[in-house]
Amino acid sequence: MSLFEFLLDADARNVATEARELARNEVDPQYLKALDRDEVKFPREIYQKYAARNLLGIRFPKEYGGRGLNWISAVAAHAEIGCLGNACGCAFIMPDIVGEALMRFGTEDQRQKYLKPMLEGRLMSAEALTEPRGGSDFFGATSKAEDRGDHFLVNGQKRFVVGAEGADFFLVYVRTNFEPDAHPYQRISTLIIDRSPGVEVSYLYGLLGTRGGGTGRLTFRNVRVPRENLVGPLHGGALVFNRMMVPERLCSASPAIGGMRAVLEIAARYSDRRMAFGRPIRKFQAVNTMLARGVTLMDASAGMVYQAALAADRDDPRLRRIVSETKRFATDSLWEVANIAMQILGGIGYTDVYPVERFLRDARLTQIWTGTNEIMDQLTQHEYYQEVLAEKDKYRDTEKDALNADVRHEKIFDDEGMWLAQ
Ligand SMILES: Cc1cc2nc3c(=O)[nH]c(=O)nc-3n(C[C@H](O)[C@H](O)[C@H](O)COP(=O)(O)OP(=O)(O)OC[C@H]3O[C@@H](n4cnc5c(N)ncnc54)[C@H](O)[C@@H]3O)c2cc1C
Repeated sequence: MSLFEFLLDADARNVATEARELARNEVDPQYLKALDRDEVKFPREIYQKYAARNLLGIRFPKEYGGRGLNWISAVAAHAEIGCLGNACGCAFIMPDIVGEALMRFGTEDQRQKYLKPMLEGRLMSAEALTEPRGGSDFFGATSKAEDRGDHFLVNGQKRFVVGAEGADFFLVYVRTNFEPDAHPYQRISTLIIDRSPGVEVSYLYGLLGTRGGGTGRLTFRNVRVPRENLVGPLHGGALVFNRMMVPERLCSASPAIGGMRAVLEIAARYSDRRMAFGRPIRKFQAVNTMLARGVTLMDASAGMVYQAALAADRDDPRLRRIVSETKRFATDSLWEVANIAMQILGGIGYTDVYPVERFLRDARLTQIWTGTNEIMDQLTQHEYYQEVLAEKDKYRDTEKDALNADVRHEKIFDDEGMWLAQ
């Protein structure tokens, strides 16, 4: 049971309970194994289970198939589904991501045509930002859409698209502004591209984890995309992208809680029974303090996730920083906690007799996708510097409290200061 359940209102508790019951009762272990063996290449079956229970995109209005709830309820559900691993988790959270673009920037027609069927389980979506030439340098995208009046003609490539294998439509970022001196933030547009002739999918990655999620490469060859599939303003992809950081990062962080809970439970039960030197290994401090650290990381991550969800519900001005820190912390924690669980299990933890190794393989990706954790740091430090350097007098000036605060000739910051001090 999450330590944070006491923070949840009745709606969030109910939806978390529904998601927990689905994860506990309705997912055959054989299905997860088939995904991990790449025998099932795309998780449509489980997606339809989510939809049948009306658990997809619950924070969107009821008229579009959601439940009209908030981010807190959404992350409470994500945290429960996280125990199923990345492929099933990603299928669960993708409507929250793609739905954000449709809800915030889409037209009513787009919501009816894509958002509603997506939340009802009739359509599946994927998001395509990353290109073979790079993912972090998003604004350098070279996939292009030529404006032909009533349609765009799209050519280019995206890679590492989860769901490429089976999704019915893609939210794609393409270059539309070819002015040589166009600012990078005014070059890109966001398009909905249906699976159609001209959209080629190659399923070609031998992935360490997250298998069965349908991760592939998309190649667009002269794809005609109707103008009404433009999401947000023409050349306004930066606006969409800036907002999409919120669902992408929050939705990467929230399922991590479920992953941490799963591996910690395995480690706790194992260490309670496994004997060494005549006693259960949990009696060794080296073991139980590892577990304590894992539990603390899980609870701290949950605290950050719920804080970020609240910030998203309130549209807090520091939201981008909060979600970036949360994504980094929760996904690094998942990686560390999976390692802790493996260590507690010893040699058997390294085998596929326990699923800890699968969680570990999945965890590694969460530090890379939806923006690497180094990119999270870039945003965090940038926004923190801006805030601190702008707010001079808000807090007590503790620098003056140093015993020798007045020794100005020791406060040297550059060459010039050094000469002045002499
Ligand atoms: C299985 C899988 C599924 C994925 N799913 C999707 C998906 O559904 N949709 C999608 O669009 N993408 C997806 N991705 C792509 C993922 O988001 C990118 O791999 C990621 O953003 C990094 O881009 P890159 O691989 O091109 O690495 P690069 O951008 O080339 O980065 C390489 C290294 O350089 C570092 N680096 C780059 N720039 C900076 C900087 N400014 N400051 C500090 N460090 C920097 C990075 O942190 C990284 O360590 C997926 C990837 C995988 C492997």
